[in-house]
Amino acid sequence: KHEGRNTYRLFRTEMNQRDHQQLALETALRNTVESGEGLEVHYQPLVDRDSGEVQGAEALLRWHHPEFGQVSPGTFIPLAERSGLILPLGEWVMQRVAAQLMAWRQAGLSPPRVAVNLSARQFWQRGLVERVAELFEAYQLPPGQIGFELTESVLLDHQQEAVELLHGLRELGCRIAIDDFGTGYSSLSYLQDLPLTTLKIDRRFIQRLTGEESQRRGSAAIVAAVTGLAQELGLRVVAEGVETEAQLAALSRYPVTLIQGYLTGRPVDAETFAGRYLQAGEK
Ligand code: C2E
Ligand code: CA
Ligand code: CA
Ligand code: CA
Repeated sequence: KHEGRNTYRLFRTEMNQRDHQQLALETALRNTVESGEGLEVHYQPLVDRDSGEVQGAEALLRWHHPEFGQVSPGTFIPLAERSGLILPLGEWVMQRVAAQLMAWRQAGLSPPRVAVNLSARQFWQRGLVERVAELFEAYQLPPGQIGFELTESVLLDHQQEAVELLHGLRELGCRIAIDDFGTGYSSLSYLQDLPLTTLKIDRRFIQRLTGEESQRRGSAAIVAAVTGLAQELGLRVVAEGVETEAQLAALSRYPVTLIQGYLTGRPVDAETFAGRYLQAGEK
């Protein structure tokens, strides 16, 4: 016992401030995941560029802790991934989204498809497809009401297995988007081999379209190439992180299907989302 305390003290002094903060956050997150308290799903609209209609939404997790306040997903998602907490956390998100969609439908609203982000560990978790099928069943959701967003690196590690998993999800009607497209691997051949539906162009390219002169041409070339490729492959293109009219205008010459960004709508809580975007009886 005595020695244990000494070891602990030594450990403590060697740990820097940052490690402490991380450990405290991890403990807090663990407790939060158990109780579900302080977690909330926000929804950001995906707007059809031509019609202006809301064609979908992305589910984005929010965490408010009594001591740490609002913790950004950019902080707690990587922490959850490292600690394994992403599995119960991801399960909580899927269930929450499914329950919300059922509630909206029962209230006579017609919610659009909602895309849920999947981390590598969630995607590769045994029984994912069965779990999704179960959720659709339990919450009486039509096929494809929930879809998924994955990054390239998740899919390319074990591409053959990924193809099988994705086919399983596609059979449930789920849309599959490649998130942050253009920031990961440089190989494009996988676009032909994986059963995808959507490419999401990372917001850094969108932002550079109207950024410094020196960056504009390069990002315009990338956006032109990516949207052209997607069109040829029959994939929908989402432009992420559109914040200004100038960015929207700069995108006008490219075959972009959907706009997602602060310009067309920030992520908001479920109630606000329904009030703004869901009308009774409308499809
Ligand atoms: P992401 O999947 O790329 O999500 C888009 C991020 O861009 C969100 O940040 C969203 O709030 C933000 N965003 C949307 N429009 C704009 C815009 O016009 N300008 C700017 N500057 N940002 C915009 P958020 O909510 O902070 O989430 C960060 C990341 O955390 C997400 O990036 C995603 O990778 C991860 N994440 C969030 N929720 C979940 C979840 O439920 N599960 C998993 N596995 N990851 C999640
Ligand atoms: Ca995403
Ligand atoms: Ca993204
Ligand atoms: Ca991201």
